[in-house]
Amino acid sequence: MGTRVLPTEPVGSIPRPERYQRALASIRNQALIDQEAEAAVRETVARFEETGSPIITDGEQTKSSFLHYVFEGADNIGPGSIAIGFTDGHKRDIPQLLAGPFRYGTYADKYVRQAKALTKRPVKVAVMSVHALSLIYPAGGIDGYSKDQFLDDLVAEAAKEIVLCFEAGADSVQIDWTEGRLSLKLDPSGAFLDEGIRLNNAVIAAVPDKYHDRIGLHTCPGGDRDSTHSADVPYEALLARMFEINATRFYLQMISEPDYEEALRVVGKHLRKGQIAYVGVTNHLVEEVETPEVVRDRILLAAKYIPIHQLGTTDDCGFSPFTDDLSTSRDTAFAKIKARIDGNALASAALLG
Ligand SMILES: [Zn+2]
Repeated sequence: MGTRVLPTEPVGSIPRPERYQRALASIRNQALIDQEAEAAVRETVARFEETGSPIITDGEQTKSSFLHYVFEGADNIGPGSIAIGFTDGHKRDIPQLLAGPFRYGTYADKYVRQAKALTKRPVKVAVMSVHALSLIYPAGGIDGYSKDQFLDDLVAEAAKEIVLCFEAGADSVQIDWTEGRLSLKLDPSGAFLDEGIRLNNAVIAAVPDKYHDRIGLHTCPGGDRDSTHSADVPYEALLARMFEINATRFYLQMISEPDYEEALRVVGKHLRKGQIAYVGVTNHLVEEVETPEVVRDRILLAAKYIPIHQLGTTDDCGFSPFTDDLSTSRDTAFAKIKARIDGNALASAALLG
Protein backbone atom coordinates (compact mmCIF):
# COMPACT_ATOMS: atom_id res chain seq x y z
CA MET A 1 0.00 0.00 0.00
CA GLY A 2 1.33 3.45 -0.87
CA THR A 3 2.04 5.98 1.80
CA ARG A 4 0.09 8.77 0.13
CA VAL A 5 -3.50 9.03 1.23
CA LEU A 6 -6.33 11.31 0.27
CA PRO A 7 -6.88 14.01 2.90
CA THR A 8 -9.52 12.93 5.40
CA GLU A 9 -11.04 14.85 8.31
CA PRO A 10 -13.99 14.35 10.66
CA VAL A 11 -16.73 16.97 10.80
CA GLY A 12 -16.31 17.08 14.54
CA SER A 13 -18.98 16.26 17.07
CA ILE A 14 -19.23 12.97 18.98
CA PRO A 15 -22.11 11.95 21.29
CA ARG A 16 -21.30 12.83 24.89
CA PRO A 17 -20.73 9.97 27.40
CA GLU A 18 -23.77 8.98 29.46
CA ARG A 19 -22.06 9.94 32.72
CA TYR A 20 -21.51 13.47 31.43
CA GLN A 21 -25.08 13.64 30.14
CA ARG A 22 -26.37 12.61 33.57
CA ALA A 23 -24.21 15.19 35.31
CA LEU A 24 -25.56 17.91 32.99
CA ALA A 25 -29.18 16.81 33.33
CA SER A 26 -29.54 15.85 36.97
CA ILE A 27 -28.38 18.57 39.31
CA ARG A 28 -26.63 21.88 39.02
CA ASN A 29 -23.48 20.49 40.54
CA GLN A 30 -20.82 22.47 38.67
CA ALA A 31 -17.89 20.56 40.18
CA LEU A 32 -19.33 17.26 38.96
CA ILE A 33 -20.14 18.71 35.53
CA ASP A 34 -16.58 20.03 35.19
CA GLN A 35 -15.12 16.69 36.26
CA GLU A 36 -17.25 14.72 33.79
CA ALA A 37 -16.57 17.26 31.03
CA GLU A 38 -12.83 16.83 31.45
CA ALA A 39 -13.18 13.05 31.47
CA ALA A 40 -15.35 13.21 28.34
CA VAL A 41 -12.77 15.27 26.41
CA ARG A 42 -9.92 13.03 27.58
CA GLU A 43 -11.71 9.83 26.59
CA THR A 44 -12.90 11.27 23.27
CA VAL A 45 -9.41 12.37 22.25
CA ALA A 46 -8.02 8.92 23.17
CA ARG A 47 -10.73 7.11 21.21
CA PHE A 48 -10.23 9.44 18.26
CA GLU A 49 -6.52 8.55 18.24
CA GLU A 50 -7.41 4.84 18.26
CA THR A 51 -9.34 5.23 14.98
CA GLY A 52 -6.08 6.19 13.27
CA SER A 53 -7.57 9.51 12.24
CA PRO A 54 -4.73 11.78 11.05
CA ILE A 55 -6.64 14.82 12.32
CA ILE A 56 -8.82 14.69 15.42
CA THR A 57 -11.23 16.91 17.35
CA ASP A 58 -12.39 17.16 20.95
CA GLY A 59 -15.72 15.76 19.79
CA GLU A 60 -17.25 19.12 20.75
CA GLN A 61 -17.81 17.52 24.13
CA THR A 62 -18.12 20.76 26.07
CA LYS A 63 -19.97 22.85 23.47
CA SER A 64 -23.63 23.24 24.39
CA SER A 65 -24.21 22.99 20.65
CA PHE A 66 -22.37 23.82 17.44
CA LEU A 67 -24.31 27.12 17.41
CA HIS A 68 -25.06 28.08 21.01
CA TYR A 69 -21.51 27.87 22.43
CA VAL A 70 -20.91 31.38 21.08
CA PHE A 71 -23.43 32.76 23.59
CA GLU A 72 -22.03 30.98 26.66
CA GLY A 73 -20.92 33.74 28.99
CA ALA A 74 -22.61 36.57 27.07
CA ASP A 75 -25.01 38.67 29.15
CA ASN A 76 -26.93 40.44 26.38
CA ILE A 77 -28.59 37.37 24.85
CA GLY A 78 -32.16 36.27 25.55
CA PRO A 79 -34.73 33.80 24.24
CA GLY A 80 -35.46 34.35 20.57
CA SER A 81 -38.47 34.27 18.34
CA ILE A 82 -36.99 32.11 15.59
CA ALA A 83 -36.86 28.32 15.74
CA ILE A 84 -35.50 25.87 13.19
CA GLY A 85 -37.93 23.01 12.56
CA PHE A 86 -36.78 19.45 11.84
CA THR A 87 -38.65 16.78 9.88
CA ASP A 88 -39.41 14.72 13.00
CA GLY A 89 -41.23 17.74 14.49
CA HIS A 90 -38.65 18.94 17.03
CA LYS A 91 -37.31 22.49 16.99
CA ARG A 92 -34.12 24.29 18.00
CA ASP A 93 -34.36 27.91 19.07
CA ILE A 94 -32.13 30.74 17.90
CA PRO A 95 -31.62 33.29 20.68
CA GLN A 96 -32.03 37.03 20.34
CA LEU A 97 -29.65 39.92 20.94
CA LEU A 98 -31.06 42.19 23.64
CA ALA A 99 -28.56 45.06 23.45
CA GLY A 100 -25.37 46.05 21.64
CA PRO A 101 -22.52 45.70 21.15
CA PHE A 102 -22.41 42.05 20.17
CA ARG A 103 -19.39 40.09 21.40
CA TYR A 104 -18.91 36.33 21.55
CA GLY A 105 -19.24 34.93 25.07
CA THR A 106 -16.97 32.02 24.12
CA TYR A 107 -14.35 31.69 21.37
CA ALA A 108 -13.58 28.20 20.07
CA ASP A 109 -9.81 28.47 20.63
CA LYS A 110 -10.62 27.28 24.15
CA TYR A 111 -11.53 23.85 22.73
CA VAL A 112 -8.33 23.74 20.65
CA ARG A 113 -6.22 24.34 23.75
CA GLN A 114 -8.05 21.68 25.75
CA ALA A 115 -7.59 19.04 23.03
CA LYS A 116 -4.00 19.94 22.22
CA ALA A 117 -3.04 19.45 25.86
CA LEU A 118 -4.12 15.81 25.46
CA THR A 119 -2.67 14.80 22.09
CA LYS A 120 0.21 15.26 19.69
CA ARG A 121 -2.10 14.69 16.70
CA PRO A 122 -3.21 17.68 14.63
CA VAL A 123 -6.47 19.09 16.02
CA LYS A 124 -9.24 20.66 14.00
CA VAL A 125 -12.02 22.79 15.38
CA ALA A 126 -15.44 23.89 14.16
CA VAL A 127 -16.73 27.45 14.51
CA MET A 128 -20.21 28.78 13.91
CA SER A 129 -21.03 30.53 10.66
CA VAL A 130 -22.06 34.18 10.91
CA HIS A 131 -24.93 33.52 8.53
CA ALA A 132 -27.11 31.82 11.18
CA LEU A 133 -25.76 34.10 13.90
CA SER A 134 -27.01 37.10 11.91
CA LEU A 135 -30.54 35.94 12.78
CA ILE A 136 -30.11 36.94 16.43
CA TYR A 137 -30.58 40.64 15.60
CA PRO A 138 -34.23 41.41 16.47
CA ALA A 139 -36.65 42.29 13.68
CA GLY A 140 -37.68 45.42 15.61
CA GLY A 141 -34.08 46.70 15.79
CA ILE A 142 -32.08 47.89 18.81
CA ASP A 143 -31.97 51.57 19.79
CA GLY A 144 -28.52 53.02 19.15
CA TYR A 145 -27.18 49.81 17.58
CA SER A 146 -28.09 49.37 13.93
CA LYS A 147 -28.21 46.09 12.02
CA ASP A 148 -25.17 47.22 10.00
CA GLN A 149 -23.18 47.94 13.16
CA PHE A 150 -24.18 44.52 14.45
CA LEU A 151 -23.12 42.78 11.23
CA ASP A 152 -19.75 44.59 11.28
CA ASP A 153 -19.20 43.45 14.87
CA LEU A 154 -20.33 39.92 14.04
CA VAL A 155 -17.91 39.59 11.12
CA ALA A 156 -15.06 41.02 13.20
CA GLU A 157 -15.81 38.62 16.07
CA ALA A 158 -15.94 35.60 13.76
CA ALA A 159 -12.66 36.52 12.08
CA LYS A 160 -11.08 37.10 15.49
CA GLU A 161 -12.24 33.63 16.60
CA ILE A 162 -10.72 31.92 13.55
CA VAL A 163 -7.39 33.68 14.09
CA LEU A 164 -7.44 32.75 17.80
CA CYS A 165 -8.03 29.10 16.84
CA PHE A 166 -5.05 29.07 14.47
CA GLU A 167 -2.88 30.85 17.04
CA ALA A 168 -3.87 28.15 19.55
CA GLY A 169 -2.49 25.59 17.10
CA ALA A 170 -5.56 24.41 15.18
CA ASP A 171 -4.62 22.42 12.09
CA SER A 172 -7.80 23.44 10.31
CA VAL A 173 -10.83 25.55 11.15
CA GLN A 174 -14.21 24.49 9.82
CA ILE A 175 -17.03 26.99 9.52
CA ASP A 176 -20.30 25.17 10.24
CA TRP A 177 -22.65 26.42 7.55
CA THR A 178 -25.59 24.10 8.05
CA GLU A 179 -27.91 27.04 7.35
CA GLY A 180 -26.68 27.35 3.76
CA ARG A 181 -29.25 24.96 2.37
CA LEU A 182 -31.80 26.00 4.99
CA SER A 183 -31.52 29.61 3.83
CA LEU A 184 -33.21 28.68 0.55
CA LYS A 185 -36.13 27.30 2.52
CA LEU A 186 -36.36 30.35 4.79
CA ASP A 187 -36.11 32.65 1.77
CA PRO A 188 -36.76 30.99 -1.63
CA SER A 189 -35.84 34.27 -3.38
CA GLY A 190 -32.19 33.46 -2.61
CA ALA A 191 -31.50 36.85 -1.01
CA PHE A 192 -30.70 35.29 2.36
CA LEU A 193 -28.34 32.81 0.67
CA ASP A 194 -26.62 35.76 -1.04
CA GLU A 195 -26.26 37.36 2.39
CA GLY A 196 -24.68 34.16 3.77
CA ILE A 197 -22.13 34.03 0.96
CA ARG A 198 -21.33 37.71 1.43
CA LEU A 199 -20.96 37.44 5.22
CA ASN A 200 -18.82 34.29 5.14
CA ASN A 201 -16.55 35.87 2.53
CA ALA A 202 -16.26 39.02 4.64
CA VAL A 203 -15.11 36.87 7.57
CA ILE A 204 -12.54 34.97 5.50
CA ALA A 205 -11.26 38.21 3.95
CA ALA A 206 -10.66 39.56 7.46
CA VAL A 207 -8.45 36.56 8.35
CA PRO A 208 -4.78 36.80 7.25
CA ASP A 209 -4.07 35.06 3.91
CA LYS A 210 -1.57 32.68 5.49
CA TYR A 211 -4.45 30.78 7.09
CA HIS A 212 -6.74 30.61 4.07
CA ASP A 213 -5.71 27.17 2.80
CA ARG A 214 -6.72 25.69 6.17
CA ILE A 215 -10.16 27.27 6.37
CA GLY A 216 -13.05 24.99 5.52
CA LEU A 217 -16.80 25.07 5.30
CA HIS A 218 -19.20 22.29 6.29
CA THR A 219 -22.65 22.06 4.82
CA CYS A 220 -25.49 19.65 5.48
CA PRO A 221 -29.28 19.75 5.68
CA GLY A 222 -29.08 19.53 9.49
CA GLY A 223 -28.36 16.36 11.42
CA ASP A 224 -30.01 16.40 14.82
CA ARG A 225 -31.64 13.33 16.42
CA ASP A 226 -31.29 11.55 13.06
CA SER A 227 -33.52 14.23 11.52
CA THR A 228 -32.88 17.03 9.00
CA HIS A 229 -34.20 20.57 8.46
CA SER A 230 -33.65 21.25 4.78
CA ALA A 231 -33.04 18.01 2.87
CA ASP A 232 -36.12 18.86 0.78
CA VAL A 233 -34.29 21.85 -0.76
CA PRO A 234 -32.63 20.69 -4.02
CA TYR A 235 -28.92 20.32 -3.20
CA GLU A 236 -27.86 21.68 -6.58
CA ALA A 237 -29.45 25.03 -5.70
CA LEU A 238 -26.93 25.36 -2.88
CA LEU A 239 -23.95 23.64 -4.52
CA ALA A 240 -24.20 25.90 -7.59
CA ARG A 241 -23.45 28.86 -5.27
CA MET A 242 -21.49 27.37 -2.38
CA PHE A 243 -18.07 27.40 -4.01
CA GLU A 244 -18.31 31.18 -4.38
CA ILE A 245 -17.25 31.20 -0.76
CA ASN A 246 -13.50 31.70 -0.59
CA ALA A 247 -12.81 28.73 1.67
CA THR A 248 -10.34 26.08 0.54
CA ARG A 249 -11.80 22.95 2.12
CA PHE A 250 -15.45 21.95 1.72
CA TYR A 251 -16.79 19.24 4.04
CA LEU A 252 -19.84 18.05 2.16
CA GLN A 253 -22.77 15.94 3.27
CA MET A 254 -23.07 13.57 0.31
CA ILE A 255 -23.78 9.90 1.00
CA SER A 256 -27.10 10.57 2.76
CA GLU A 257 -28.38 12.32 -0.37
CA PRO A 258 -31.02 10.28 -2.23
CA ASP A 259 -28.75 10.35 -5.32
CA TYR A 260 -25.11 10.34 -4.21
CA GLU A 261 -23.73 10.06 -7.74
CA GLU A 262 -25.74 13.03 -8.96
CA ALA A 263 -24.48 15.08 -5.99
CA LEU A 264 -20.92 14.11 -6.94
CA ARG A 265 -21.53 15.27 -10.50
CA VAL A 266 -22.81 18.63 -9.30
CA VAL A 267 -19.85 19.14 -6.96
CA GLY A 268 -17.44 18.24 -9.77
CA LYS A 269 -19.17 20.79 -12.00
CA HIS A 270 -18.97 23.72 -9.58
CA LEU A 271 -15.79 23.15 -7.55
CA ARG A 272 -13.25 25.90 -8.30
CA LYS A 273 -9.50 25.56 -8.84
CA GLY A 274 -7.62 25.32 -5.55
CA GLN A 275 -10.65 24.10 -3.61
CA ILE A 276 -10.81 20.62 -2.07
CA ALA A 277 -14.07 18.68 -1.79
CA TYR A 278 -14.13 16.46 1.30
CA VAL A 279 -16.89 14.08 0.30
CA GLY A 280 -19.08 12.63 3.05
CA VAL A 281 -18.68 8.85 2.81
CA THR A 282 -20.20 7.70 6.13
CA ASN A 283 -23.88 8.26 6.89
CA HIS A 284 -24.57 9.78 10.32
CA LEU A 285 -28.33 9.22 9.97
CA VAL A 286 -28.20 5.40 10.02
CA GLU A 287 -26.88 3.12 12.75
CA GLU A 288 -25.45 0.48 10.43
CA VAL A 289 -21.67 0.88 10.29
CA GLU A 290 -20.13 0.97 6.82
CA THR A 291 -17.39 -1.54 5.96
CA PRO A 292 -14.04 -0.14 4.73
CA GLU A 293 -14.77 -1.75 1.34
CA VAL A 294 -18.09 0.07 1.04
CA VAL A 295 -16.36 3.35 1.92
CA ARG A 296 -13.60 2.60 -0.61
CA ASP A 297 -16.12 2.08 -3.39
CA ARG A 298 -17.89 5.33 -2.51
CA ILE A 299 -14.56 7.17 -2.81
CA LEU A 300 -13.69 5.48 -6.10
CA LEU A 301 -17.02 6.66 -7.47
CA ALA A 302 -16.28 10.18 -6.24
CA ALA A 303 -12.97 10.10 -8.10
CA LYS A 304 -14.88 9.76 -11.38
CA TYR A 305 -16.38 13.20 -10.87
CA ILE A 306 -13.85 15.11 -8.78
CA PRO A 307 -10.16 15.50 -9.75
CA ILE A 308 -8.05 13.36 -7.40
CA HIS A 309 -5.89 16.33 -6.34
CA GLN A 310 -9.10 18.09 -5.22
CA LEU A 311 -10.65 15.06 -3.48
CA GLY A 312 -10.78 14.36 0.24
CA THR A 313 -13.17 12.48 2.52
CA THR A 314 -15.17 13.20 5.64
CA ASP A 315 -18.24 12.04 7.55
CA ASP A 316 -21.55 13.36 6.28
CA CYS A 317 -22.06 15.43 9.44
CA GLY A 318 -21.10 15.62 13.07
CA PHE A 319 -22.51 12.72 15.08
CA SER A 320 -24.06 14.91 17.78
CA PRO A 321 -24.23 18.65 17.01
CA PHE A 322 -26.30 19.28 20.15
CA THR A 323 -25.25 18.08 23.61
CA ASP A 324 -28.45 16.18 24.24
CA ASP A 325 -28.56 14.38 20.89
CA LEU A 326 -28.14 10.69 21.76
CA SER A 327 -29.55 9.26 18.54
CA THR A 328 -26.17 7.78 17.65
CA SER A 329 -24.01 5.92 20.18
CA ARG A 330 -20.36 6.79 20.77
CA ASP A 331 -19.36 3.29 19.69
CA THR A 332 -21.19 3.73 16.38
CA ALA A 333 -19.68 7.16 15.78
CA PHE A 334 -16.11 5.94 16.34
CA ALA A 335 -16.74 2.76 14.30
CA LYS A 336 -17.93 4.89 11.39
CA ILE A 337 -14.89 7.14 11.68
CA LYS A 338 -12.61 4.10 11.69
CA ALA A 339 -14.41 2.72 8.63
CA ARG A 340 -13.78 6.05 6.87
CA ILE A 341 -10.08 6.04 7.76
CA ASP A 342 -9.64 2.41 6.63
CA GLY A 343 -11.75 2.88 3.50
CA ASN A 344 -9.82 6.06 2.69
CA ALA A 345 -6.56 4.07 2.88
CA LEU A 346 -7.95 1.39 0.55
CA ALA A 347 -9.18 3.97 -1.97
CA SER A 348 -5.89 5.87 -1.75
CA ALA A 349 -3.96 2.70 -2.56
CA ALA A 350 -6.14 2.18 -5.62
CA LEU A 351 -6.03 5.80 -6.77
CA LEU A 352 -2.57 6.98 -5.75
CA GLY A 353 -0.57 3.72 -5.75
ZN1 LIG B 1 -23.71 18.86 9.57
